[in-house]
Amino acid sequence: MYNVKAYAASSATSPLAPATIERRDPTEHDVQIEILFCGICHSDLHTVRGEWGEVQYPLVPGHEIVGRVTKVGSAVTRFGVGDLTGVGCMVDSDGTCPHCKADHEQFCPNGVQTYGSPDKHLGCVTQGGYSESIVVNERFVLRIPANLDLAGTAPLLCAGITTYSPLRRQGVTKGQKVGVVGLGGLGHMGVRLAKAFGAHVVVFTTSEGKRQDALRLGADEVVTSRNADEMRKHTWSFDFILDTVSAEHDINAYMSLLRPEGNLTLVGAPPKPLSVAAFSLIMGNHSLSGSNIGGIAETQEMLDFCGEHNLTADVEVIPIQKVNEAYERLLKSGAKYRFVIDMASLKAE
Ligand code: NAP
Ligand code: ZN
Repeated sequence: MYNVKAYAASSATSPLAPATIERRDPTEHDVQIEILFCGICHSDLHTVRGEWGEVQYPLVPGHEIVGRVTKVGSAVTRFGVGDLTGVGCMVDSDGTCPHCKADHEQFCPNGVQTYGSPDKHLGCVTQGGYSESIVVNERFVLRIPANLDLAGTAPLLCAGITTYSPLRRQGVTKGQKVGVVGLGGLGHMGVRLAKAFGAHVVVFTTSEGKRQDALRLGADEVVTSRNADEMRKHTWSFDFILDTVSAEHDINAYMSLLRPEGNLTLVGAPPKPLSVAAFSLIMGNHSLSGSNIGGIAETQEMLDFCGEHNLTADVEVIPIQKVNEAYERLLKSGAKYRFVIDMASLKAE
């Protein structure tokens, strides 16, 4: 075992603060990674503030990790010291269940999340990426395309795959009309990816000030979702709507914009239940789905796709000392469009 510097939450109400955590020495299948950048996902905030349920503190969040390999176990075949790698929301799974065999590790009943899951090696809970280094089984380590900016790549490990996966599953392609609700970390990646797949992309935002950015990111149209007249113009016209909103909102307003047989997929995870009117589904044979990140193979596919199309996130790189300020801005829909922590700043602690 060795000690690393990190930032941890010690309760649902305390700010993140410097901490020291333990990492295991790499076992034969492990890769040790020096973390260079880690994105701040809204899930980090929901989790450490206890909004989604009980949490074991202290907890180090962070699951959008990019870093350089510093050591590999004797049986590691796919990575070597010096390689640029990524780690997303998962760090282990049983590898034997039908879900793992189908490359859907995110559904594995024995899956281990990057933070907050029981840690079978150290006996506590797993600790995430707001830290100097991490040790991960090589099956859960991703290759980073060499042409991509590293800070802008970190958010692909969660925001990227979480939007890529449902867009792919729905077969989004040229000629389709796709809505993206909420222009934050997930939303802005959803816009870039849906555009790269050839769709006509409409952004729904509550922030009038994001209009120009939405267009720059590739949106064909921008709708202020609080303006009922603007919303009505799109009635029954969408093939697919991706909802990335992190807080309570009326999904019926979006369901009514789907064409017959259209689908709305929720990736945003507001802590309180949303209400769905039966007629939002019945009228037009609409369907409502959810989507949970993506498997490891699909995450690599997404990274390679982003490499080929030179797609990364729009990031505001911050030192870790500003993480609590960033959380407050995130709560006000103020990320443009992903905060990413430069982990070199941790050395000053
Ligand atoms: P984010 O950067 O904070 O973006 C959320 C966006 O939602 C905001 O920028 C804002 O967009 C909109 N919004 C916020 N509050 C709103 C309100 N009260 N009413 C309407 N719109 C509101 O968050 P994120 O990191 O993209 O994450 C979004 C959600 O996805 C979170 O709940 C997160 O936990 C979840 N998530 C799910 C998965 C998964 O696997 N399904 C993976 C990662 C994250 P506008 O300013 O444009 O309105
Ligand atoms: Zn996330």
